[in-house]
Order: sequence, then C-alpha cells, then structure tokens
Amino acid sequence: MTVSNVNVFGTLYVVATPIGNLADISFRAIEILKSVDMIAAEDTRHVVMLLKHYGITNKLVSLHQHNEDKASSVLLEKLRDGLSIALVSDAGTPLLSDPGMPLVKLVKEAGLDVVPIPGACALITALSVAGMPVTQFSFEGFLPRTSSARKAFFAERLNHTKTWVFYESCHRILACLQDMVDVLPLDREIVIARELTKLHETIVKVTLSEALALVSANENMRKGEFVVIVGGAEEDGKQLMTTEQEKVLKILMRECSIKTAVAMAVDITGVRKKILYQAALQIDQEKDCRISYIGTDF
Ligand code: SAM
Repeated sequence: MTVSNVNVFGTLYVVATPIGNLADISFRAIEILKSVDMIAAEDTRHVVMLLKHYGITNKLVSLHQHNEDKASSVLLEKLRDGLSIALVSDAGTPLLSDPGMPLVKLVKEAGLDVVPIPGACALITALSVAGMPVTQFSFEGFLPRTSSARKAFFAERLNHTKTWVFYESCHRILACLQDMVDVLPLDREIVIARELTKLHETIVKVTLSEALALVSANENMRKGEFVVIVGGAEEDGKQLMTTEQEKVLKILMRECSIKTAVAMAVDITGVRKKILYQAALQIDQEKDCRISYIGTDF
C-alpha cells in the first residue's frame, strides 16, 4: 500500500510537539511542519506560538474534539487529492488524551499512509523519572469528574500490582488525592509530576498521605498540569508470608483475639501488620466456613 501511494495520495503525519519547553521537538518534526501542505491543529491559536518560534509559516486548519468527525472526512479528501497533512495537538503526542483518533482511523481504513513523528508525551516523560517499575503499566487518561465515580475507579485498582498513571488538572488534583486517601492505603507510593519541562517543574515521590499533606499545604502544588503515577499493590498478603509465619499466626489465633494475635505475630515474625491482619481475617473466615459445614452435617 505504501508503494502504490507514492506520488498519488498525500501522507498524514502525526507529529508530537513539546509539552512545555519549546526546544523539546525533533529536527524531523520541524522539517515536516515546514514542508506539509497544511497543519491540522487542535487549537490553531496555540500552535502559532510554536510555529512562530521555529519560523514556520504554514496553512492551519482546525481539528478538535467538537468537529473532528466532520473535519476528518474533509481532510481525507485533501489527502486523496495528493496534499500532505501534519496533525498536531496542543501539547505532546496527538491522540493521547487528545483529538485525532477518528482522522487516523479513517485515513488508515482508506488505505493511505499515516506516519508517526515521535516526540514528547507527558505520561512517558513522567514515567522515565519515576523510579518505579514501568516494564508494564496502565495509562488511565483523565479520571472521572465526580468524587463517587473516582472512588469507584480507585477501588477497582486497589489490588492492581502494576504501576498505573493518569492525567489530572489543577482544578481537581486536591479532590482527587482526598478520594485516593479514602480508598487506597496511606503508604502507597505515588509520584506527582507537575509542570514537566517548564519553569516550575516539580517531581515528588512520596507516600499517598504525604502527597495529600503536601498538596493541601502548598498552593503552588495545586497549579499547572499534572501527571500522577501510582505504584502497584503488593502481592496478596498471604503469599508474602512463609508457611512458618502463617503457622505462628494460626497458633496465636487459637489463644487470643485477632488483634492481639496480629500484634504478637508482628513482633515474632517481623511481617508487616497489614499483611498479617489480612491473613488473619482470611484464616478466621475459613474457620467460620468449616464450623458451619460441620454444624449442617451433624
Ligand atoms: N497528548 C498529551 C501528551 O502527549 O502527553 C497530553 C494532552 S492532555 C489533553 C493534557 C494533560 O496532559 C494535562 O492536563 C496534564 O495532565 C498532562 N500534561 C501535559 N503537559 C504536561 C506537563 N508539562 N506537565 C505535567 N503534565 C502535563
């Protein structure tokens, strides 16, 4: 398809632009922005700053979330006429929580060429300095806007063992952390990456409770743009204990209340209280099941 398109149809270039620092753009991206027939931009006024900075004077057309279905069909016709187009968003990589998916889908389905011009992306930039496992992670985009929906979202991810990342705005960062504290363990490790590549860039790696304290206390920590990275949950509590340690807990539970047994098991085994407590609840539940089974049979 690529070969047959040469000199017949135009190419759609999906071009990443900076997420703050204007120098974070590739030579190739600048060449493409200069040489295409037109640039389809999320906000034409916004991209003008970047174009001016690099002396690019090119035709701009608008493609945003409210017109992208209609605009995509028009742009496909332009590509069919042999014109080449660069797609850019306000910041970073198009389509990543940004417009462009309908256009890329349409152009690919029509069998025309779509070429990526890679560059900045806020989530990848934040992950690259998080110091957290990133071999596998999930990107969640923007979170739901209401507190109840956000809490349900966090509850669903409570036991996810992989790192997860989301985008947040200055209007909701505090409320978002408050909801997280209500659902996730206070010692869960998180990274708040704020104003990446800009003058007030701030990247902090703290526990969830520290993050809430920091953002509550410091007005500046509620300004700008945010990427939040959440460390995965530890493996299931029971799996983190050896058989020996579980045996100690079971013996203690025969003689004492759960609370006392857990407290003593912490001293004896050195296993974390949260893990022992979860295991104790599970052991207690299994014991209840056995008793009710015996009761029914006899
Ligand atoms: N397509 C973009 C990308 O590649 O990252 C993201 C666009 S999305 C509409 C904008 C969101 O990305 C912001 O609300 C913020 O959560 C995040 N973001 C963008 N630039 C950022 C920056 N410089 N620092 C921190 N977060 C940023």
